[in-house]
Formats: sequence, C-alpha cells, structure tokens
Amino acid sequence: MRYSLFSLARQALRGHRGWQPVWRDAAPQASYDVIIVGGGGHGLATAYYLAKEHGIRKVAVVEKGWIGSGNAGRNTTIIRSNYLLPGNEPFYEWSMKLWEGLEQDLNYNAMVSQRGVLNLYHSDAQRDAFARRGNAMRLAGADAELLDAGAVRSMLPFLDFDNARFPIKGGLLQRRGGTARHDAVVWGYARGASDLGVDIIQNCEVTGFVRDGDRVTGVTTTRGTIGAGKVGLAVAGSSSRVAQYAGLRLPIESHVLQAFVSEAIKPLIPGVVTFGAGHFYISQSDKGGLVFGGDIDGYNSYAQRGNLPTVEDVCEGGMALMPVIGRVRMLRSWGGLVDMSMDGSPIIDRTPLQGLYLNAGWCYGGFKATPGSGWCFAHLLARDEPHPTARAYRLDRFATGHLIDEKGQGAQPNLH
Ligand SMILES: Cc1cc2nc3c(=O)[nH]c(=O)nc-3n(C[C@H](O)[C@H](O)[C@H](O)COP(=O)(O)OP(=O)(O)OC[C@H]3O[C@@H](n4cnc5c(N)ncnc54)[C@H](O)[C@@H]3O)c2cc1C
Repeated sequence: MRYSLFSLARQALRGHRGWQPVWRDAAPQASYDVIIVGGGGHGLATAYYLAKEHGIRKVAVVEKGWIGSGNAGRNTTIIRSNYLLPGNEPFYEWSMKLWEGLEQDLNYNAMVSQRGVLNLYHSDAQRDAFARRGNAMRLAGADAELLDAGAVRSMLPFLDFDNARFPIKGGLLQRRGGTARHDAVVWGYARGASDLGVDIIQNCEVTGFVRDGDRVTGVTTTRGTIGAGKVGLAVAGSSSRVAQYAGLRLPIESHVLQAFVSEAIKPLIPGVVTFGAGHFYISQSDKGGLVFGGDIDGYNSYAQRGNLPTVEDVCEGGMALMPVIGRVRMLRSWGGLVDMSMDGSPIIDRTPLQGLYLNAGWCYGGFKATPGSGWCFAHLLARDEPHPTARAYRLDRFATGHLIDEKGQGAQPNLH
C-alpha cells in the first residue's frame, strides 16, 4: 500500500477503514538465506537493503520483544555527521546522505528534520579543536560552519553566555544535522523490508547458535531452531551476551544511558544544542517537549533503567547552559542499554566463525548511523567484503592497534 495524498483522501472518504497493517507479523520458517538477530533500526535497515540492493529476499529479522523495543525506541533522535577521524567521517556522512533520501525511498514519513546541530565551545583551545573538526568534515564532503559568540547569540539568545565558569565563545554548526522520529524509522524500515518479502518475527529470542564445526548454520530460538546460510548480529546493548552463545568474547561493555523529556512548552529551541563544558544535549520535539540527555551512568549493566546521580548531573549541565529551563517540569526519563566499544567506534565485520557476522559497538551514537549501518552490513553480508566507508570498522583492530578513538580516551569504554 503506497502512501500519498490520494490514498489519504481515498481512506478519508471510506472512514479510514481500509488501512492495512504496516508490516507482516511472520512465523518462523525452517530456514533462510540470512537471519538478522535484533529488530532494532540497524537490523531492520540491514534486512531492507539486503532485499532492495542485493536481491536477497529470503531473510528473517528475529526479535526477542517487539521491533523498536531496544535503543531504537529509546534514543534522543539526534542525527549528524560531525566526526573528525577518517575511519568515521565518510561513514557517518554516507549515513547522513541516506537520511536525506530516506522518506522518499521508504515512502514513509520518518519526520527527518534537518534543523541543525550546534556544538558550543567555551575556550580558545576548544574553538581550535572544533575548527579542525569542521575542516575534516568539509574535506569529507560534509557541511560545517564555525560561529562566533555573536552568531550563536542571535540564534539562541537565552543561553547563559556570561556564565563565570563556562562562558560561551561560539559553536560548530552542522545545518544538515537534526532529528528524526525514532519509532517511525523502525516502522518505515519494517514496512519496506516486509514489502520486499522479509519475515519480521517478533517475540522470538535467539538462545544459541547451530554449528557445524566452525561454521554457524542457524540459530536456536524460543520458537524453535531456524536454519540459515548466514547470521548477522545487530543486537546493540546485548551484543556481548548473544556473542557469548557462539563462544565469542567481544571488546564491548554494556552500559546504561538515560534520556529525559519535559512537559510541552512553546517553541524555544530551534535545533539541537550541545554543551561543550559538560555532557548535555537538548532539542525540542514537535509536540513541544524538551528532549535531553548526558553521560552514561558509568557502570556495567543490562538493566534498562538508570540512577538518580546521573539525573542530577544531566540537569546541572542543562542549568549551566540555559537557566531558562529551570522551572520546566521533567515528564519522563528512561534508560537504554548501550554497547560501548573500547575505542568508542563501531564494528561491522565478519567474526572468527564462518557464517556469523557482527554489527555492534554503537555506543550512544548509533541512531544517526541506522541507514549507513544497514547499508554497510547488508553489503558485507551479501558480498563478504566490507563496504568502502566501513572498512575501518574491523573486529581485529583492538588486537592490531588500528583504533578509531575520536575522543582520545584510550581503552576505557565508559569515557567514550
Ligand atoms: C537513551 C539513549 C539515547 C540515545 N541517543 C542517541 C542519539 O541522540 N543519537 C544517536 O545517534 N544515537 C543515540 N543513541 C544510541 C542509539 O539508540 C543506538 O546506538 C542504536 O539504536 C543501536 O542500534 P539498534 O537500533 O539496532 O539497537 P536496538 O534498538 O537496541 O536493537 C537491538 C535489538 O536486539 C534485540 N535483541 C537483543 N537480544 C536478542 C536476542 N537474544 N534475540 C533476539 N533479539 C534480541 C533487542 O530486543 C533489540 O530490539 C541513544 C541510546 C540511548 C539508550
């Protein structure tokens, strides 16, 4: 069913009784060419591009809960490609380009809104680092503008520019960055994949792998065993746990990241703003709620909820940046399980087991990567070679020393 102005008018005349379910809720078949474990954005995007770009349609996405019940449905929806390092920037810029055509491609409104992402700087040294980042972005074909304090003031006059500890001196702006509606991204990819013949199997937890020596030939699940030519893992925060079923120990730790939303207020914040002297990022949803977040909680956990000290820390960051929000009431907060890698960058690669492929290590920044990750993982699964923009995301880089450490923090996942 294609969505258009005409189909909307036709349904309106029929009292909206003719809409069809957006995707097929499938039961598992005996075997597939490819099984993707994890029905988040990345898993569904991979299945969609496998079917659309590579003609591989005997594909199943196996999800233990409902699709989008993981981080895909819990994030703060920021999309951007403002990375510094050559291993990252071309990949995230490719993902950004896919975002720009996504709604036309999927015929689905994912509410992609290029309202701009502004990273504030508070010192001369930070300005120089941002200038370097902006130049790297432009060299990779992305857009970047370095603003001084006056330019930022004209965009966001309510910020605390003269804060004694963290004066705002300017910002690095990516106008093409912004937000997208996270649930709609999941539903759009599910619809696109399902239309191309992909089976989306919900409430089906993968509990182990079927092996023939060093080759993975299927998965065991709570709904029986399913055979597969290839198996791709896209389980984000559960990566270490699921890889363990295959005897693999990943360079990944799972941490909790919280997000927050306030009561709805009149339009205040036009784009995404990030604080450069602490970890705080904020945007305003179309419903009016302020959507914000900060650091991970800082301890290993598989619980999808966080702790109060982080709530306080995030709100302190917000107050230092924009005291104007001080009397806005917080409506909800929630936690997600993020897959923190040792260098803060992802992995899209084969594993030491034949037929088993890995997509993981997205830390708290994988939502923006959803289209690019799906595209590159599908490429790897279909052709058995990495996509040119994802060549650096190798699993063995932690052994060989080819790290992609944007922050320069070293092997300390909680700091990335
Ligand atoms: C609070 C928060 C805020 C964030 N904000 C941003 C942001 O603003 N911008 C950004 O770019 N990124 C952000 N992220 C990160 C981003 O959401 C993730 O990196 C990204 O969603 C991960 O990929 P995914 O969508 O495929 O993961 P998920 O949606 O987590 O998908 C993994 C799926 O695997 C399933 N699964 C797990 N184990 C099994 C099993 N054994 N069998 C079957 N299925 C299984 C899970 O149920 C889950 O649905 C944020 C994350 C959090 C938690």
